[in-house]
Amino acid sequence: MKYPYKKLFVLFVFLFSVPLAADVSYDCFFTDNTLRVDYFQTGTASQEIISLDQIYREGEWPGTRSNLIDTLNLGQYLLKVYDLATNQLIFSHGYASIFGEWQTTDEAISGTFRTMHGTVRLPFPKRSVQLIIAKRNKKNVFINQFSTTIDPGSRFVNCEQKSFPYKINALISNGAPKNKVDLLIMGDGYTKKDLKKFHRDVKRYTDDLFRVSPFKERAKDFNVRTIDVISKDSGIDEPRKNQWKQTALGTSYNSLDLARYILSLSNKEIHDIAAMVPYDNIYILVNSPRYGGGGIFNCMATCYSGSEKGQPDWWSDYVFVHEFGHVFAGLADEYYTSDVAYNDLYPPDVEPWEPNITTLTNKEHLKWAALITPGTSIPTPWEKTRYDSLLSAAKQLDKKAADYDEKDKMLHQQAQAILDSPKYQGIVGCFEGAGYASQGIYRPAIDCRMFSKSLEGFCPVCRNAIERMINFQVN
Ligand SMILES: [Zn+2]
Repeated sequence: MKYPYKKLFVLFVFLFSVPLAADVSYDCFFTDNTLRVDYFQTGTASQEIISLDQIYREGEWPGTRSNLIDTLNLGQYLLKVYDLATNQLIFSHGYASIFGEWQTTDEAISGTFRTMHGTVRLPFPKRSVQLIIAKRNKKNVFINQFSTTIDPGSRFVNCEQKSFPYKINALISNGAPKNKVDLLIMGDGYTKKDLKKFHRDVKRYTDDLFRVSPFKERAKDFNVRTIDVISKDSGIDEPRKNQWKQTALGTSYNSLDLARYILSLSNKEIHDIAAMVPYDNIYILVNSPRYGGGGIFNCMATCYSGSEKGQPDWWSDYVFVHEFGHVFAGLADEYYTSDVAYNDLYPPDVEPWEPNITTLTNKEHLKWAALITPGTSIPTPWEKTRYDSLLSAAKQLDKKAADYDEKDKMLHQQAQAILDSPKYQGIVGCFEGAGYASQGIYRPAIDCRMFSKSLEGFCPVCRNAIERMINFQVN
């Protein structure tokens, strides 16, 4: 077919006017500093208003200076920054938020309004910019939620230097922040006396992290810093036990009213203290032996310090690495048998943005098609009925019975044996049961660090997603 010349011309103009990621020159648009924008998110399940809180100039920009446009397409939210003079997109960044998760809870659906605090960061612009926060709608399309213009030289940018009496440690140093993934670990619920324990806990967890592929092979791409944050009380809030602690970072069990979910709503305090060092991701260790944790993509991760009486030591090691999968690579939970607070978090007709679960609505364009083991049926058959019945039998056991522990252990061992069966090992396919749903959502492998509570490594699809994120950040 012959293209009319006019059409061809329009096509050329279009092609050459779209800014490519590589077109954005860091030095042309940005200084070495970081611009931090704090905001409030207010609303219910069905509405959200974002309003500006404060704008800050902070220290060294820790992120990549080459990949300024986020091409990974992850996260429920997308920060977009345009040069005001030329209207060129000069920075973008995908992330998720506690508010976004809260919107799927019963409380939000009942129409209760709540406000939560959020933060986005970008390299400090040399000229005025337009900053937009967009959010995916139910069909996954990004819709602009908030827009403001920022003159970086104006009096509305707070340039005060905050200081805190906390010691900084460069635990693992592999190079300049701009070329590395900079992980910041802070403790909450550690008193001055508990700091030695904090250092021990951090050492144990970072050793765990870099024992697991692909972090093991890519350890040289990471810097790890810690801040010795001191809390007044030892331990953290446990609302269901009416236990309240005064801590520096405000973490709490029972977040979103779930027993073991640990998050903090003290977002501003966390980012004020975090600004003492360059960081890409924040991990908060909570000084508590009770099982729990949380992880929200590019927002925060939390993990208990282990180990609860009567529980295996390795449970906390499992949690630490699992939650890092959430915060760092945007991985979804692949499990489906635990109780969660979410309603309709993954509608069956919408493909989740997370790289490791799928609704298979578009089977021909499956996002991990390149990794599927040749000859594997899609969906991939597995002993799901038996696995489900073993776990449901375990749930129905009488916890007060004398042989409860023994029976519970046996049923879980039988369920784990299905996952460990040689016939599934190394197979990448589409296994039904993922993302808190027993049906209609699929995971790539029989087992993964994002699926079972075990020291299983990441499945090939999760490993791939983690590597992609590392490659994006270190370039
Ligand atoms: Zn996985």
